[in-house]
Amino acid sequence: MAKIAFIGLGNMGGPMAANLVKAGHDVIVFDVADALADALVEQGASKAATAAEAVAGVEFVVSMLPSGEIVKNLYIHQDKLLDVIDPATVVIDSSTIASEDAVEVHKTAKSRGIAMIDAPVSGGVGAAKSGKLAFICGGDEAAVDKARPILEVMGKAAFRAGPAGAGQIAKICNNMLLAVHMIGTAEALNMGAAAGLDPKALTEIMAASSGRNWSLDTYNPFPGVMEGVPASNDYQGGFLVKLMNKDLGLAADAAGKLGAATPMGDLARQLYDKHGDAGFADRDFSSILKMFAD
Ligand code: NAD
Repeated sequence: MAKIAFIGLGNMGGPMAANLVKAGHDVIVFDVADALADALVEQGASKAATAAEAVAGVEFVVSMLPSGEIVKNLYIHQDKLLDVIDPATVVIDSSTIASEDAVEVHKTAKSRGIAMIDAPVSGGVGAAKSGKLAFICGGDEAAVDKARPILEVMGKAAFRAGPAGAGQIAKICNNMLLAVHMIGTAEALNMGAAAGLDPKALTEIMAASSGRNWSLDTYNPFPGVMEGVPASNDYQGGFLVKLMNKDLGLAADAAGKLGAATPMGDLARQLYDKHGDAGFADRDFSSILKMFAD
């Protein structure tokens, strides 16, 4: 069993750390919100007073934080964890951040002889709780392989997208495409319903035709078509619009820097920004259907 520091115990990090504890690992937790660390202690983790204390003598460091700024402050600028982490440690940053921020942390880690991977996740809080996340990794193959046994406790799959920062790029490519097909699915279902079609029947037809996609056949945005999805629970829970907005912003920044044309991604971003501003920031992203239905 490994000794693991876990930093950032929010909606995602809390259940991810809990799964490591359940699997029998020795987990030392830290969060600036102390009560979140206490909740993990109740589940069998131990608590550190500072991030630097958490990483002392561990084999792995996992972080799950809100932004690139916070990740860089933790590892490089303020807490300077990369100055105190033992070179034998593998650092796994699972936060969704800009690829260039991830690369900056990678470079600093490398200069200290520390192996690091960016490993953002696909899957929301439910997948974090059930240990069914998909990790999308960037970094050296050897580092990804070393991290794999730990990732496999928290997830059902761990992919290597490429070198440092590639995990972040692959993740935002996926989420940009997700936004586009969710919007397309919502507007098609809404138009069919406006013409008097039963959205359930229309879903069945399109799911067996060339319009088939994940937003249609697994996460349907039309209320009542599917059980157990946010659309059938007033769009509560799920993947929040504000998080989709964050990911579409990262995608737009990356596209700008790469000179890649993403007209559909840009339009999806505009629509989701408008939708968030209309009071849906804390609803599931499939609620975009309401923009057309209302
Ligand atoms: P969250 O805001 O619930 O949790 C972040 C945690 O980090 C908070 O508990 C906060 O107190 C802590 N934190 C902030 N600064 C810190 C510091 N300097 N040191 C220690 N702890 C600090 O966010 P979340 O929903 O858990 O998301 C975390 C990351 O995962 C984000 O990058 C997000 O984009 C990504 N993500 C989220 C989801 C989701 O559905 N929530 C899905 C996929 C990816």
